[in-house]
Amino acid sequence: LRYAEFSPNLLLTEILEQIGHHVPVDGVDIRFEPAAGLPPCRGDAERLRQVFINLIVNALQAMAGNGVLRVATLLDGDSLLVVIADSGPGISEEIRGQIFNPFFTTKAEGTGLGLSVSYGIVQAHDGTIEVESQDGCGSTFSVRLPVGAEPV
Ligand code: ADP
Ligand code: MG
Repeated sequence: LRYAEFSPNLLLTEILEQIGHHVPVDGVDIRFEPAAGLPPCRGDAERLRQVFINLIVNALQAMAGNGVLRVATLLDGDSLLVVIADSGPGISEEIRGQIFNPFFTTKAEGTGLGLSVSYGIVQAHDGTIEVESQDGCGSTFSVRLPVGAEPV
């Protein structure tokens, strides 16, 4: 990992500006809620960019062009939380335990690699990714990263 200081809010702003060129977002209400006064983070911003793109693209694909995408940053003690929530169909209990496995996909053209790669990148930062979902009621992915951590 190439650790450097970066602004999570700026990184997410860039991603949200670019994503519409690649995934349909016309009927999606995108709500960005950046925490005010967030300190700079340390981490490999390019790897983390990939993580947030994976989560946001999954959210947009799940909503198939219609719904609410919420992207929020929060400071929670010594952790930065990045929350990506969609109003899509949710993730059924049967598959919830498998979505982070490499090559697990429910999409006709999916690679099933996005979440497994993202999990590895976040873990390498000493962070965690958690998912909350109720079948039929959207999905919320929370990425927790230690602020100001140094690589091991
Ligand atoms: P892919 O997007 O190529 O299918 P991922 O690793 O990104 O691979 O995701 C694995 C699977 O997890 C998806 O195929 C889908 O079934 C499920 N999934 C991930 N994110 C969401 C989401 N936001 N809403 C519903 N299902 C999701
Ligand atoms: Mg994906």
